[in-house]
Amino acid sequence: MKRVVVIGGGLSGLAAARAVLDEADRRGEAVSATVLEAAPEPGGKIRSVRDEGFLCEQGPNGFLDNKPSTLALARRLGMEDRLLKSEDGARKRYVFAGGVLHPLPEDPMSFLASGILSIRGKLRLAAEFLLPQGDPDEDETVAAFVRRRLGDEVLDRLIDPMSAGIYAGDPGVMSLKSAFPRVAQLEQQFGGLLKGMLAMQKMARASGRAGPQGAGPGGVLWSFRDGTAELVQRLAESLADQEVRTGAEAVGLRKAGGGWVVEVAGGQAVAADAVVLATPAYAAARLVEALDDRAGDLLRAIPYVPAAVVCTGFRTGALPRPLDGFGFLIPASEKRQILGSLWSSSIFAHRAPDGSVLTTQIVGGARSPGLVGLGDDDLVGRVRGELGAILGIRAEPVFVHVARWDRAIPQYVVGHAERLAEIEGRVAALGRVFLAGNAYHGIGINDCTARAGELAPAVVDAVAGEGA
Ligand SMILES: Cc1cc2nc3c(=O)[nH]c(=O)nc-3n(C[C@H](O)[C@H](O)[C@H](O)COP(=O)(O)OP(=O)(O)OC[C@H]3O[C@@H](n4cnc5c(N)ncnc54)[C@H](O)[C@@H]3O)c2cc1C
Repeated sequence: MKRVVVIGGGLSGLAAARAVLDEADRRGEAVSATVLEAAPEPGGKIRSVRDEGFLCEQGPNGFLDNKPSTLALARRLGMEDRLLKSEDGARKRYVFAGGVLHPLPEDPMSFLASGILSIRGKLRLAAEFLLPQGDPDEDETVAAFVRRRLGDEVLDRLIDPMSAGIYAGDPGVMSLKSAFPRVAQLEQQFGGLLKGMLAMQKMARASGRAGPQGAGPGGVLWSFRDGTAELVQRLAESLADQEVRTGAEAVGLRKAGGGWVVEVAGGQAVAADAVVLATPAYAAARLVEALDDRAGDLLRAIPYVPAAVVCTGFRTGALPRPLDGFGFLIPASEKRQILGSLWSSSIFAHRAPDGSVLTTQIVGGARSPGLVGLGDDDLVGRVRGELGAILGIRAEPVFVHVARWDRAIPQYVVGHAERLAEIEGRVAALGRVFLAGNAYHGIGINDCTARAGELAPAVVDAVAGEGA
């Protein structure tokens, strides 16, 4: 029996262990998996807390169905009856700019009628049709790309808030081709974004599918009845016949024969025929630096931003306006204390008791990292101030829950692709060591589950076929 040790029991590690075992089963190979998780519980950034009838997502709220891997995993785990589709009304998203909540246009043409851009901004946006294609080899920042193709106003009012909404990031340093690869491809494939979006809509209409949704990310958002944590819980349960060790921090990797020995803090070392590093990049750095210090430096150089999540519950009667949509994001230029607010109970059922609503605010990110360290009262006070100013909600919340992540989300900054290529080359050269985790090829749930499926054949290849 060959043993694969997965270090890190967040979604990436649990999904990688599941995928490796399934792949080995398909091939009739005898492989076991041991997952080492430093925290007392598996799940990593995925934590759903149910309290007083409210469900606060401390990390992710859901995943889109525009990529198939997470829905496929949920089905593989027999979770069809637990899946929860977002409400249709949640397709409506807002941006708060110039003191007003603007509904985001749902397709490129409705930009013309929308108040989110000035006439000048709209003309500049339309001029994108005429612009020549950029250099495909340049690793451009998101901000430079948007300024070049769509103008300053689109950057300020649409792309900056979107970058904050997805990455809690700063478009001035994020790499377009690593953070928004599909956008970079549209320019190269169709000669421009508007041309690309129109061409895709035409193709979608011809094939009877729904077209791309303009400004927002395409696809429908999904979760589970009791939150995203159901997925990691069910994954861990599916590994019950394997070894999932919590409170087990891996602190070193040592070569032993053709495989590895993983040292565990205060515990027994584990022998491995292959190792999957599914920790954040800075933790992977600590594990590989003794073997290859350059790989350690490169991994450590992937930056993370902090974030705080503040969930607030209100009585429905206390709302001066209905929470009719997904919520809103805010451009940096507005200089507010929150990055945005998700109207959680409008997005998904089962998030608040009858007669109440739940909103979830994100604070910090690259824009204002210092706010994350504030005490709970101060943080909640600032959030309430913003909900008062933007939505007119002045009532006392009936529910409050605060979560903080010192290093919440990895940032794909300019140079990411080049750095990643070198990291992957160096880690591969160690032999039978693999990288999973959201620091590399995509930061979202779908990326973690897709990556697990992509890695599994290579991991099984590495351990199989020699008297396994
Ligand atoms: C506030 C927030 C909101 C988000 N919203 C969304 C969203 O709506 N949709 C979406 O798709 N994605 C979202 N994400 C991203 C999503 O949470 C991640 O894609 C996913 O959870 C990352 O999983 P992971 O396993 O790669 O990393 P992690 O969850 O960070 O797991 C890594 C694990 O490794 C463990 N570990 C570290 N060092 C060691 C060691 N030495 N030994 C053993 N174990 C170790 C850690 O304890 C941790 O459990 C959000 C993230 C945050 C923070």
